[in-house]
Amino acid sequence: MKKYGNIFILTGAGISAESGLATFRAANGLWNNHKVEDVATHEAFLRNPAYVHDFYNELKLELNKAQPNPAHLAITKLQKEYTGANISVITQNVDTLHEKAGNQNIYHIHGVINQAVCLNCGHILETWGDVDTETICPQCQVQGMMKPNIVFFGEDLLYMNQVDTLLRKCDLFLSIGTSGVVFPAAAFVQTAKYYGADTVEFNLEQTSNNFYFDKHITGPAGTTLPAFVDELLKK
Ligand SMILES: [Zn+2]
Repeated sequence: MKKYGNIFILTGAGISAESGLATFRAANGLWNNHKVEDVATHEAFLRNPAYVHDFYNELKLELNKAQPNPAHLAITKLQKEYTGANISVITQNVDTLHEKAGNQNIYHIHGVINQAVCLNCGHILETWGDVDTETICPQCQVQGMMKPNIVFFGEDLLYMNQVDTLLRKCDLFLSIGTSGVVFPAAAFVQTAKYYGADTVEFNLEQTSNNFYFDKHITGPAGTTLPAFVDELLKK
């Protein structure tokens, strides 16, 4: 393999599933056994903010307990040992397994479970404690305006300007545990390929025939990614 200078790593639910978070945002339209329209839309939040807060407070407890797996740790190893390269992690996951594994340059494009955003002043409150309709914003002191910093359906993804820049610059694009035919992975790989990146997809099973990927690697990412990283490090 050649030497790369800018590596873009996109991760999705598949990488967290190997840490036991398999029920999260499942294909049956349920989000941790709740209907998406009850807990992950702006309308739901306006209608019943207490219910939505309860859901994320509970989810926060569950995600706080989860531990990173060898796929997350392989990214740490790559970032530490593959010197001279900018390596960014762009994740669709709202858990903090990348952080727990010691990854750097992480962009949570769907938001992250241990943050709430003040709808009055924009302050981001980082906490593993409960946030609810009584919570007072530490910046503007207004009560009851905190929203989980989770991108609800119909809302824009976060960090899209930075992501676009990283996509244009990258010479290696890795997609791990996310369907290569569904937004955003499908759009991201297309941009990366257009600007000349080598592109590799890691999935449990081959789910996509997206021809923007040069290579599809199938199997658990906890096995396939460490092997791939070791290959990269040999060069
Ligand atoms: Zn505020």
